[in-house]
Amino acid sequence: MSAKAADYHARLTDFMTELVFPAEESYHAYRLEAGPRDHTVPPVVEELKKQAKERGLWNLFLPSVSGLSNIEYAPLAEITGWSMEIAPEVTNCAAPDTGNMETLHLFATEEQSEQWLKPLLDGEIRSAFAMTEPAVASSDARNIETTMLRDGDDYVINGRKWWITGAADPRCKILIVMGRTNPDGPSHRQQSMILVPTDTPGVSIERSLPVFGWQDQHGHCEITFDNVRVPSSNLLDEEGSGFAIAQARLGPGRIHHCMRALGAAERALALMVDRVQKRVAFGKPLAEQGVVREAIAKSRNEIDQTRLLCEKAAWTIDQKGNKEAHVLVSQIKAVAPQVACDVIDRAIQVHGGAGVSDDFPLARLYSWHRAMRLFDGPDEVHMRTIARAELGREKSALATAASRQSGTAAVAH
Ligand SMILES: Cc1cc2nc3c(=O)[nH]c(=O)nc-3n(C[C@H](O)[C@H](O)[C@H](O)COP(=O)(O)OP(=O)(O)OC[C@H]3O[C@@H](n4cnc5c(N)ncnc54)[C@H](O)[C@@H]3O)c2cc1C
Repeated sequence: MSAKAADYHARLTDFMTELVFPAEESYHAYRLEAGPRDHTVPPVVEELKKQAKERGLWNLFLPSVSGLSNIEYAPLAEITGWSMEIAPEVTNCAAPDTGNMETLHLFATEEQSEQWLKPLLDGEIRSAFAMTEPAVASSDARNIETTMLRDGDDYVINGRKWWITGAADPRCKILIVMGRTNPDGPSHRQQSMILVPTDTPGVSIERSLPVFGWQDQHGHCEITFDNVRVPSSNLLDEEGSGFAIAQARLGPGRIHHCMRALGAAERALALMVDRVQKRVAFGKPLAEQGVVREAIAKSRNEIDQTRLLCEKAAWTIDQKGNKEAHVLVSQIKAVAPQVACDVIDRAIQVHGGAGVSDDFPLARLYSWHRAMRLFDGPDEVHMRTIARAELGREKSALATAASRQSGTAAVAH
């Protein structure tokens, strides 16, 4: 860690222990009382936002605003992953806003930035990103079917989206919508992105989808767009650049999820260690069983390996840009959620029945990280990217000599 990152790390740790962890009980009590269909924000969130701002723990994710590089931000995002429902949001570092702010920062005009980026950076409003559709395999962005057709000075949007995170939150004021503006263009140039205020006539939130039965506060919404009309000045960048914007948006956003997943895995491991030292079965603490020790050791190995890969990806984004880090970002996105799931699963197991209850955060942590293996690109799509890069790589001198040698040996036998 740089001195600057270490300073933030210490202050963020204090913020977590003094204010965030103690707020978890009231956050969950509010949501329980309000009921699963309620998406209002627990008051403690707005209180903590003020505190985070005062302490300078705000918008840490955006290098041009915070002055922190990705490698400096990684350990900070990891800390927020320890309390994933509260800490990322109260420091204004929560998805999907971070990805949306990054997108607006890169592609918005001055007027668009003034209207939407500024209030997002100030934490006054929230936003959602609407790409996925129930009718088509949306892991392939070229399939998106929502139409976005030019009509005079406007675009008219028709389609159905789902899994649109954040749209149920009453503070969500703006959607970045992906749709097809150029159906006859080359497959990578058919899609565009446009800004759609949530109160535009024709935008209807049909429902919010649960994740393994849980309703998240911000919701994951199915939304219909019925002849939704927005001015052409709401277009991001130019017609046909939707696919390129999606790629630019998902680079840093994907790695932020992975950094936070490490924090969640650390919390699960901490709970595992605590539980097995206190719980006695068959005459001795669980911690003295070899199989439990192996679960702990494996978890530590996997977390530390994953952190190094995550840091390598973050460092590469800093040093060489998103494009050069593309394969590494796929590597970490394919690894980190799976490792988090594995560690959390072991922690659940050593907790016995308590592990799948609501009395511990483990079941909730598991469900979120299992879902993470789907969003921002399912594992298989990232593995495809990694394999394609490996197969296309120019063979090193060692690889060439070794394969020649293996061939010779086979012939000799
Ligand atoms: C909790 C949550 C939050 C989300 N938030 C958002 C959001 O805010 N905005 C948004 O637009 N979307 C969001 N999504 C949607 C998510 O990004 C999509 O679910 C994901 O991209 C996969 O698309 P799909 O569901 O259409 O699956 P499909 O494209 O139908 O793919 C189904 C499965 O096929 C397999 N597969 C796909 N391609 C390949 C391949 N090349 N090789 C081998 N197997 C393959 C994978 O196992 C994949 O899971 C969210 C999803 C969840 C669960």
